[in-house]
Amino acid sequence: MAPPLADARISSTRLWGDLMALGEIVEPGQPYTRRSFSAKFVEGREWLAARFRDAGMSVRIDAGGNLVGRRTGRRPGAATIMIGSHSDSVPGGGRFDGIAGVIAGLEIARALADNGISLEHALEVIDFLAEEPSEFGLSCIGSRAMAGALEESQLEQVGPGGETLRSAIERVGGVPGRINDARRGDIGAFLELHIEQGPVLEARGLDVGIVTAIVGITRLELRFVGEAAHAGTAPMIGRRDAAVAAAEVVLAVRDLARTLDARGEGYFVATAGVVDVRPNAANVVPGEARLVIDARCENTSSMKRFVDDLRARAAGIAAASATELAGFEVLSDNDPAHCDPQLQQVLLASAAAVGCSAMSMASGAGHDAAFLSRVAPSAMVFVPCRGGRSHCPQEWSEPAQLVAGAAVMLEATLRIDRAALRANAEGDR
Ligand SMILES: [Zn+2]
Repeated sequence: MAPPLADARISSTRLWGDLMALGEIVEPGQPYTRRSFSAKFVEGREWLAARFRDAGMSVRIDAGGNLVGRRTGRRPGAATIMIGSHSDSVPGGGRFDGIAGVIAGLEIARALADNGISLEHALEVIDFLAEEPSEFGLSCIGSRAMAGALEESQLEQVGPGGETLRSAIERVGGVPGRINDARRGDIGAFLELHIEQGPVLEARGLDVGIVTAIVGITRLELRFVGEAAHAGTAPMIGRRDAAVAAAEVVLAVRDLARTLDARGEGYFVATAGVVDVRPNAANVVPGEARLVIDARCENTSSMKRFVDDLRARAAGIAAASATELAGFEVLSDNDPAHCDPQLQQVLLASAAAVGCSAMSMASGAGHDAAFLSRVAPSAMVFVPCRGGRSHCPQEWSEPAQLVAGAAVMLEATLRIDRAALRANAEGDR
């Protein structure tokens, strides 16, 4: 096995100190809330920008409102290596989701600076604007902009106090009038470290997960119409109970998803998170039911099979419950984003080189890397988090777990820097 390239070491004290310091810049009495576009968010970014400068990086906010620290490379015109995630949180969130990825990027830049290592490629550390669903009804705002996927119409979406997203981006230093300037074509590799937000790595005692794909999400709405009736006088035989149909669908969703996930053709989960029966009264046989299904896949063929099978099952359920399947609608349908296979290999080799155990796994949650993968080879490193808990104040990863993830990223950065050079040298011949 090749020895690690990284002489530079990730400082646990510094990385942890920064995470905890940023964890103090949150809404008072509401741990740990730093909503995008809020005063605390801006304050957190000012703190981050100062740390970026301390690490010898130049700092700017791009047209999409992303905070970018840049370390120039030795070779002018070479592609950029980008590392980062997001510093905003959900309401009542944790100190690690997103933030760990930004601080890991910062720490990597510092580790390189400490050891006098200059890369051939420019290195950028990024804090994407508003990854979590914002008050403007949109998530991943900064990474969308960087992928050229932030629409003019989305800029007009209105948030608190009637402010448009356009003016909010301007308020945090972006230039929505030139939003296309945020689009990047120069990124040779994007790496994002993130807490897993699930229980798998902890349960298996592994150091890191190398992400294969960020799931595609399909949302379906099903509606059943039966007949409302008196709960006391309508005999059990002959009822047209829409809630019975809904209950059968909940079970069918679980069974189909379990079968698809067990096929070995990629991660698959599905949830009936909305079950709404009418009139929702104790003494009335429900006459109508509406369900919203959230299904997530690593590959689109599994999703197609799920939708087809669920449609067939729903028709059968309607017939069996003497209800009518009045609607089966696809509300939204996003394809999975695949992580770059070569970068995955570099990350796996880097993990082995620095002595970290690793597994390949899909991400069931959305991330900025999904948008970045549209314009750059992108990959992700997951680190374990306690009990798989996330989006809550109890969110936790141990310092050693974060250091291990950052060390894998640092090693990968050096390998990418060198590998890309080799590729170019071959190209020159
Ligand atoms: Zn996140």
